[in-house]
Amino acid sequence: MRRAGRIVADVLAAVEEELKPGVTTATLDTVAESYIRKAGARPSFKGYRGFPASICVSIDSEVVHGIPGKRVIQEGQVVSIDAGAIWKGYHGDGARTFFVGTPPADVAGLISTTRLALMAGVAAAVPGAHIEDVSGAVEDVAVEGGCGIVRPYVGHGIGTRMHEELQIPNYRTGSRGIEIQPGICMAIEPMLTLGKADVETLADGWTVVTTDHSLAAHFEHTIAVTEKGPEILTTV
Ligand code: MG
Repeated sequence: MRRAGRIVADVLAAVEEELKPGVTTATLDTVAESYIRKAGARPSFKGYRGFPASICVSIDSEVVHGIPGKRVIQEGQVVSIDAGAIWKGYHGDGARTFFVGTPPADVAGLISTTRLALMAGVAAAVPGAHIEDVSGAVEDVAVEGGCGIVRPYVGHGIGTRMHEELQIPNYRTGSRGIEIQPGICMAIEPMLTLGKADVETLADGWTVVTTDHSLAAHFEHTIAVTEKGPEILTTV
């Protein structure tokens, strides 16, 4: 799991290097796929329920699951990259949102609030806590930052499958959920917006966008809960 997570973190860094005005999203996908394969891993997303690429590239009002293609990256865009890798049967899953250029204050706030919401969720994933504690930690940061919380998509258990049964909502549900114990691995992934939180799926069957066209950000880490607390696996 550590190795798979490290590969995902390195892939996101490699894509960040290439993320400049003029590059196509298909090129970003090629960079990611070749990195994953050179590392001896396989891209988890490619072929997953028919998804055609190795990463998701979601731009501006696209929240998640954007399909790489001919689109050209431009200055001033909010670009979320989600990557997954399978190494020796174990999965890593991670996402980061970048701004192409220097973001206006509200967009910088959206991006930093989403990252901080993720980190608050990670910090809450300690042995003895419950899933609701993680959800509540994410929600509190999002609300404090004035962001909308996208609700239909949630974090998940991860291991020998990308999506395992455990669900980690980015908001309180009123149910405590399971007690968190050492050995549990999960992907925590807040998706926040600068406007309303309603989303819809485009005709391509994948791309999730905000209904009000507001900008969105997405950060995700795969973590392992140890006796000492949460360990982020999708990091360098
Ligand atoms: Mg995920």
